[in-house]
Amino acid sequence: MRKYNFSAGPSTLPSEVLQQSAEAILNFNNSGLSLIEISHRSKDFIAVMDEARTLVKKLMKLNDTHEVLFLQGGATLQFAMAPLNLLKTKAAYVDSGNFASASIKEAKKIGNIDVVASSKEDNYTHIPKNYTVPTDVDYLHLTANNTVYGTEIKTFPELHVPIVCDMSSDMLSRDMDFNKFGLIYAGAQKNIGPAGTTLVVVDKTLLGKTGRNLPSYLDYQVHIDKDSMANTPPVFAVYATLMNLKWLEKQGGVAGIEKQNKAKAELLYGEIDRNPLFRGVCVEEDRSLMNVCFFLNDDEKYKTKFDQMWKEAGIVGIGGYRTVGGYRASIYNAMPIEGVQLLVEVMKELERTA
Ligand code: PMP
Repeated sequence: MRKYNFSAGPSTLPSEVLQQSAEAILNFNNSGLSLIEISHRSKDFIAVMDEARTLVKKLMKLNDTHEVLFLQGGATLQFAMAPLNLLKTKAAYVDSGNFASASIKEAKKIGNIDVVASSKEDNYTHIPKNYTVPTDVDYLHLTANNTVYGTEIKTFPELHVPIVCDMSSDMLSRDMDFNKFGLIYAGAQKNIGPAGTTLVVVDKTLLGKTGRNLPSYLDYQVHIDKDSMANTPPVFAVYATLMNLKWLEKQGGVAGIEKQNKAKAELLYGEIDRNPLFRGVCVEEDRSLMNVCFFLNDDEKYKTKFDQMWKEAGIVGIGGYRTVGGYRASIYNAMPIEGVQLLVEVMKELERTA
């Protein structure tokens, strides 16, 4: 039986994507060869890379100013690549969680960083708001969704400087005008595909202004010039991502999946708020559609029983992050509503039998 996997990343992918990816490993395009044996310079693989980049452009409705790249190194490498490519004098950062904080730490190794707001003192239970961005910064860095705490930016600021955004845990989950961003990056292993590739969307008009002579791999322009094939790309991750992007298109694209994601989140938050045995972790207005964090009100009384119940029901991966505790149900694009219904049923059952 396939379990309902609520892990934060790597995380669940649609069954058909797993099936298609498995088939391609054994026999890619009926070639008698495995996807992971063929040359990345072969016509068939170049077509995969081209189609994946084009489909991201279509799904995100990107203008020609914006380029789509599939890189490696995870979002973690982007913490450094973003300032290396865009920071000339100073950049503003918002500290909204542990990954935001990690991005600040990396950027400080490269240049002058102004942390304009932080919710650290409140254990990152809300998104910092009402901050001022200095006019002389090269960009503002934001983390769209804080995977660990379950908070998500609902409205992005309208600014005079480019926004650089870590969308690792909510990329392609909700519709917005992506052309407003100077740079977007996301490790694939949540909504995009398997671990091993990083999706980068960059406004190429912002590049080439820092005067830095970058090592080739760290230079976005090199990857743009080489159509994301500057070196051997992660062929399997890109192929599985393409299958997942096609699945997303069938869900009605980003707007279609947003509707499903809202319905799933409403169902689960509704139960957390209704059920007297549970409570949410962060402030209501900033609640994430992707990572739903909650606590049991009385761990001593119910934790052992609840843990046994959801495991027996076929649910995995709802343990909270080690520094937060409690529970975190990650309900990314590929989590079907049936999985959320099952979790809600288990929560109700705990109340009934308490
Ligand atoms: N940013 C966010 C918001 C994340 O959730 C993660 C990983 N969970 C990262 C950055 C780090 O990503 P990676 O492991 O791909 O380097």
